[in-house]
Amino acid sequence: MYYGFDIGGTKIEFGAFNEKLERVATERVPTPGDDYNKLIDTLVTLIKQADETFGCEGLVGIGIPGIEDARDGVVLTSNIPAAKGRTLRADLEAKLGRKVALDNDANCFALSEAWDDEHKDSPSVLGLILGTGVGGGMVFEGKVFSGLNHVGGELGHARLPLDAWLFLGENAPLLGCGCGQKGCIDNYLSGRGFELLYNHYYGEELKAIEIIGNYREGEAKAVEHVERFLELLAICLANIFTGIDPHVVVLGGGLSNFDLIYDELPKRIPKYLLSVSVAPKIVKAKYGDAGGVRGAAFLNIK
Ligand SMILES: [Zn+2]
Repeated sequence: MYYGFDIGGTKIEFGAFNEKLERVATERVPTPGDDYNKLIDTLVTLIKQADETFGCEGLVGIGIPGIEDARDGVVLTSNIPAAKGRTLRADLEAKLGRKVALDNDANCFALSEAWDDEHKDSPSVLGLILGTGVGGGMVFEGKVFSGLNHVGGELGHARLPLDAWLFLGENAPLLGCGCGQKGCIDNYLSGRGFELLYNHYYGEELKAIEIIGNYREGEAKAVEHVERFLELLAICLANIFTGIDPHVVVLGGGLSNFDLIYDELPKRIPKYLLSVSVAPKIVKAKYGDAGGVRGAAFLNIK
């Protein structure tokens, strides 16, 4: 059995999956505020209950909105005060007497999509979340590649490529990022970035959904904005693809519901790629909120 936990700021979701990767159990409990022992106890209780139900010791995987420091195993997260600065994986392993896998939620998202029937035979899958920020995860041969520092796939903090900057022209906004750098694509290509750019060019604070509504009605500013955004997205993705060359790209997050993206990117991306390259298949994520638990559980697939 594969057990997955998606630990969020307010709730912990647990899922158990059988050998066919079918979900056979689900539990949701509140995330303990800042009580670390309670967090550990909550996880251990759910695991032991599931062990009893299924008559085995399940393989445990955990997804968190944060990063486990590759040097000392300490969790870096701002969303889960109880786990912040703690060696969550090691402490859980000691308590359970078995190995535990832990990874960030964007990698779990990518892994969940990569194990979908449609993609599981693809040698590589890049998961990209265009939500509040830009998150990403890389899956090679069915396994997450998290890199030397566990920041593999953190594409939101890659900076805008030069051709994107030139495309934006004279009045390009150089946006600061929460990570301390300037020009991270997180602030341009996320749903928030979509709104920031609109505000920069037109001086109006509209929600992404309002801008897209205006676009559908043919409103001039919204049409211009969407045109600019799609080209910017194409340029940035093409630069990423030239480095990673994924076979399949799965998009998640709020902006992934803007279906125009899937018609436009394949037309716009090729001219920014190397001449020997074709654009990968770009599709919408299938699992939505359930992806976190699935991906966490699948961290243990050998
Ligand atoms: Zn950044």
